[in-house]
This record gives sequence, C-alpha cells and structure tokens, in this order.
Amino acid sequence: KEFTEISLKDIDQVAKSSFPLCMRHLFEKLREDHHLKHGGRMQLGLFLKGVGLTLDDALVFWKSEFSRKVGTERFDKEYAYGIRHNYGKEGKRVDYTPYSCQKIISSTPGVGDHHGCPYRHFSEENLRAALGKMGVSSRALEDVIDKARNRHYQLACTLTFEAVHNSSCDAGVNHPNQYFSDSQSILKS
Ligand code: SF4
Repeated sequence: KEFTEISLKDIDQVAKSSFPLCMRHLFEKLREDHHLKHGGRMQLGLFLKGVGLTLDDALVFWKSEFSRKVGTERFDKEYAYGIRHNYGKEGKRVDYTPYSCQKIISSTPGVGDHHGCPYRHFSEENLRAALGKMGVSSRALEDVIDKARNRHYQLACTLTFEAVHNSSCDAGVNHPNQYFSDSQSILKS
C-alpha cells in the first residue's frame, strides 16, 4: 500500500503518532538540541527518506534545526553534503536504504549518541519513562520491559506498537519503516 509523502507541516504530529521509539527519540533530541551526531543523522535521515520526505524538504528540515546550533553557513558547508549523500546526490551516488531493526540493534552508540534501539540501548529507567510518554499503559509496559530484559527487542517494540495502536501487529516489527507504514495504515483506515 502506498502512502502520500510525509510533509514538513505534519512531521511533528506524525512523529508522535507513527514513529517507532528509536526514531521518535532521535527526532525529539534533534528538536531539543538542534543537533545530532553522525550515527543519529544517518539513522533518522535515512528513515525520513524512507517515509517519503523529499530531499528538498529534508534539507529545510535539518537546516532549520542545525542552523540554530551551528549557523546556516556551517550547516551548508559541513552538513548539507551528508543529507544529499543519503539521497544519492553526492559521492558514489548510491541510493542508501534505511536501516533495519537488526542493523540498529547491533549498532554501538557511544556517549552523546542518540541512535540505536531504545529497547536495547536505554537504561530500564529511561525506557520506562519513554514508554510512559508514548502512552503505553502500565500493564503493557511491564510486558515490554520483560521482553527487553530478555533481549527480545523487536518483540518489545511489537508489544509497544500493539499497546499504542490498540491493534495487533501479527508480522512483528522488523524495520522502522515497516512500523511506520503499519501505523499509518491503521490510523488512516
Ligand atoms: Fe526501532 Fe526496530 Fe528498535 Fe523498534 S525494534 S525501536 S523499530 S530498531
């Protein structure tokens, strides 16, 4: 099923309703800090490309945040290239694909990084807080925490999906962009 491209004016609302926690976290951090380190820019940037954000909108979006931190000149010089690169417009002109859960789960975020999978990389305390903010009820929350503790990260994410959408997700979550499109098809049906 095809969806219309995500547009900048809807992005905050859509992030809240349909982004999996890994992307929601990056998105919120970007809005908060006006900056993300390389791993975060890659993980979120390719995801946004996957949900249909055009290159022009992506440049506007990243610039609106980064310029508040580093100024427009430095953004144009140091960061715009990476965004065009993600869209295959620079370097080897590879059309890079968004990261799968497996790739994100096996990443190794360092200090100050916000990429990775929260079910694996957050402390339990931070995970609880993040799930609460997503509106996961306390009963479902314990099941999610239990799955995460037992290293079933994608199952934990699937249970979160089911809790916030009040709908089953039989196929399970294996890709953040799949989470997004499954969410949109439920919300738009
Ligand atoms: Fe993101 Fe996948 Fe982790 Fe869910 S399981 S938070 S979609 S990496």
